[in-house]
Amino acid sequence: MNMASYLIKPFLDQEYPIADYGKGIYLYDNEGKEYIDGSSGAVTASIGHGVLEIADVMKEQAKKVSFVYRSQFTSEPAEKLAEKLKDWAPGDVNWSFFVNSGSEATETALKVAIQYWQEKGKPSKIKILSRWMSYHGITLGALSMSGHVGRRARFTPLLEDFPSVNPPYCYRCPFHKTYPECQLMCAEELETTIRRIGADHIAAFIAEPIIGASGAAIVPPEGYYQRIRDICDKYEVLFIADEVMSGIGRTGKAFAINHWQVQPDMIAVGKGLTGGYAPLAATMISDRIMAPIESGSKLIMSGHTYSANPQSTAVGLAVLEYMEKHQLVKRSEKMGTLLLEKLHNLKQKYPIIGDVRGKGLLTGVEFVSNIFNKIPFASEVSVSKILIKKCMDKGLLVYPASAGIEGHGGDAVLIAPPLVIEKEQLEQLIKIFEEAVKELQIELQVQGYF
Ligand code: PMP
Repeated sequence: MNMASYLIKPFLDQEYPIADYGKGIYLYDNEGKEYIDGSSGAVTASIGHGVLEIADVMKEQAKKVSFVYRSQFTSEPAEKLAEKLKDWAPGDVNWSFFVNSGSEATETALKVAIQYWQEKGKPSKIKILSRWMSYHGITLGALSMSGHVGRRARFTPLLEDFPSVNPPYCYRCPFHKTYPECQLMCAEELETTIRRIGADHIAAFIAEPIIGASGAAIVPPEGYYQRIRDICDKYEVLFIADEVMSGIGRTGKAFAINHWQVQPDMIAVGKGLTGGYAPLAATMISDRIMAPIESGSKLIMSGHTYSANPQSTAVGLAVLEYMEKHQLVKRSEKMGTLLLEKLHNLKQKYPIIGDVRGKGLLTGVEFVSNIFNKIPFASEVSVSKILIKKCMDKGLLVYPASAGIEGHGGDAVLIAPPLVIEKEQLEQLIKIFEEAVKELQIELQVQGYF
């Protein structure tokens, strides 16, 4: 784009194509170039682009009323969406507090956890524990919980030291063990940490059931979350599942935590909740946590101007209804199995691929310079950046993810197409991805990095 631009984009020295329109899994720029949206944007566009039913709902709702202030009115779309989410969520996670972004959803969960313990007469429980290699959002409270080294770095003095335990990252086990001989040391570390700090100070533990942006779809070993739940119960620590990326059918279940039948006390959702058609997120709260608040101060000390606005909640409701009608959660499971199988085939062919992982249509690929000792590429080689550019030139969008035990660096990408993807489209996606990987591997060989 040659014209002057005053829009602050992620990288000021980078050119961005101008989006024109989208249809299903495809996006088109203003020069007519087609891209497969292989990452649903930021793992958001779950039902695909240009769905006219959603556009109709938006128009109808805008004609009625787009905004009412939550302390003056409730609205039918907001009430109905909360009711629908209750049916989607596991166990007694029956309540929804609507916000506008994933960061607000996790930060609200933090505040609700603290408030819960105040209502229960335990006001010293204010710390939140989290894992390294995690991302819970960019606002200061959410960033305080995020174990994403790169995103914390500039603000470290302002942040709380909430990330305190290692991630369940079996490919590079932080304890240099293998499952099951490890006896889930990564989960046991939570107990040690609670005991060191003192349960009297700890309100909650927050984790992404499947680690997204800062780990590229890391799936923990069997038994991990059961152990985490037991430890949380033993020390009266709430368990918050951050399902902003992994929720709403993305991993082949309504919520990723359902893969292990573990009951969280709160769930943060966002992204796929409206499939990108409107900004909306929610902090979902269980009956158990709401009970003392309902009988105590009777209000949650948080909220934003646009919280629970009728326009966004009407979209959320329409998106969930669309997902139900087209059975997209089941579809995510089925197409995800196929996608993982195809990525594993690529791993056999290209030793630059060190690991392939994920569940449903949330999958990750980690690159290494040596497959046997898993040595990552030097960061200045920028392997994932080169790969993403190659994919984009060829008409495929994939999402950068960090990897590596320090929680930054490492080369990985997320592949997470819209849940509506068809088998032939998946084959087209894999074909382009393979071409890009093949080219990358040859180039790195020629340059002596591999
Ligand atoms: N939690 C997780 C797991 C996420 O993946 C993200 C966004 N990538 C967030 C929270 C923050 O969401 P938002 O960007 O909407 O604030």
